[in-house]
Amino acid sequence: MKNVGQSIILAGWVQRSRDLGGMTFIDLRDRYGITQLVFNMETNGKLCEEARKLGREFVIQVIGKVTERSNKNAKLYTGDIEIVVEKIKVLNPAVLPPFTIEDDTDGGDELRMKYRYLDLRRNMVRKNLELRHRMAQEVRKYFDSNGFLEVETPVLIKSTPEGARDFVVPSRLNPGQFYALPQSPQTFKQILMVAGLDRYFQIVKCFRDEDLRADRQPEFTQIDCEMAFVEQEDILQTFEGMMKHLFKTVKGVEFDKPFLRMSFEEAMNTYGNDKPDLRFEMKISELTEKVKGKGFSVFDQAAYIGGICAEGCGEYTRKQIDDLTEWVRRPQIGAKGLIYIRFGSDGVKSSVDKFYTPEDLKAIGAVFGAKPGDMIFILAGDKKKTLSQLSELRLEMGNRLNLRDKNKFVPLWVIDFPLFEWDEETKRFYAMHHPFTSPKPEDVEFFESDSGRVRANAYDMVINGVELGGGSIRIHDQQLQQRMFKVLGFTKEQAEYQFGFLMNAFTYGAPPHGGIAFGFDRLAAMFAGLDSIRDVMAFPKNNAGRDVMIDTPAIISDEQLKELNIKIDIKEKF
Ligand code: ASP
Repeated sequence: MKNVGQSIILAGWVQRSRDLGGMTFIDLRDRYGITQLVFNMETNGKLCEEARKLGREFVIQVIGKVTERSNKNAKLYTGDIEIVVEKIKVLNPAVLPPFTIEDDTDGGDELRMKYRYLDLRRNMVRKNLELRHRMAQEVRKYFDSNGFLEVETPVLIKSTPEGARDFVVPSRLNPGQFYALPQSPQTFKQILMVAGLDRYFQIVKCFRDEDLRADRQPEFTQIDCEMAFVEQEDILQTFEGMMKHLFKTVKGVEFDKPFLRMSFEEAMNTYGNDKPDLRFEMKISELTEKVKGKGFSVFDQAAYIGGICAEGCGEYTRKQIDDLTEWVRRPQIGAKGLIYIRFGSDGVKSSVDKFYTPEDLKAIGAVFGAKPGDMIFILAGDKKKTLSQLSELRLEMGNRLNLRDKNKFVPLWVIDFPLFEWDEETKRFYAMHHPFTSPKPEDVEFFESDSGRVRANAYDMVINGVELGGGSIRIHDQQLQQRMFKVLGFTKEQAEYQFGFLMNAFTYGAPPHGGIAFGFDRLAAMFAGLDSIRDVMAFPKNNAGRDVMIDTPAIISDEQLKELNIKIDIKEKF
């Protein structure tokens, strides 16, 4: 309104135009929103004719006067005014876009990705990038004001140990040799600590050749951080501070209490998961001892029996229970069956009434504090698998009961992770985090004798069931690092070949250090209230790892292959 009466120049894209008798209206769109242009047949017939020829997405520039609207549009930011146009210049015509550039578009996913530049013209997509930008600025502000230096690390490097497959790049100047793209800047940030840089961060691209899911992309962005002369407590405080700053400045959400901390063991036993969603309770309770020995063979043969109590589900119909049983039996979940105990208005009833008296069932109910109107669901089997199935069931019930509110945020630190993870298939230990993670000093004595029980100085930040960040205090003692490699099955030569540079650096005075990395895309998706990280990336890849806009990966020319000494040996030709 303060511009009313002013002569202005405005440029942008034609969102839509409407002819209403003697008037033509055009919604002109730019990055900042929509402004209505108006043309009057009576006062300027020629210009009005011109306006009627403009197609969707034409790029135009107009000269006109800002005028107060008689018919105001409260939904539009500029809805109090319109531009009475005096002159139009077509800067560029456009062919008809393959989908509508509207919030509610008719374009499917693949089509929108192919024409991502058109998709990015849509409000919602652009808003996500604006949000992401805001977050990146606040991250930088926080770190800068806390003495952190942003240092860039190289992209053409050697394999880093985050446990995924590497993307590799052949070297023309070094025939037969390859760079690996960083799965993270892990080794570099540790070396920066040896170099005395003290507090490092970087908003950085990382590359992992993994199978893709909604929250995974082959290249993604981390907020990568490292500090020297610190203990775990310093790290937790500093990065909790970063998260609080981000939530406060970008989302207007304040956490007045310190983040909850939970051991890995507790998280696994009570939520079946090392990234529990604490927006709702529904804790898992173990029933193994309580329910065995009553003649029900499923329970008698199971190594673990556990359940959850779904509040207010006591009146579930047969069909709802069958539906849930089918759900847990799906291969993705893999349970054999679902046992229920219903605390209905007509008393206690269960699918195992044959084996348990009403008193037995009530005693089970007491474990969960079940009230009339509640329902207990029980799964049995191998401990690890059953806990994971219970975790899935818990989350599903959380969804069905609308307990996972996108506007509620419950952060926590999961701490005391095991250092090693046993893999049955390959019959060896893997580093649960990565091989530079330090053990708890009190567990070092079991390092070789009972590796599985050694806990790590490692921590994850979890919000709403999403692992947003993870890190550890590192090993800075070369000897301990070598023992670590040994337990992980590296020969001396392999360790030397892969990480010799780091071991060597550690001999020149490595300070105690530790760090963390946050998944920036995931964080942005959470702030945007979205499930897929693709929506907060300007140019994401599809589920097959393809960028369908630039159509890559693609074959390269025979000359290029020759220069790189590479022969392609695949049966199918593309
Ligand atoms: N480099 C680790 C990761 O990408 C994070 C860390 O330990 O700082 O998960």
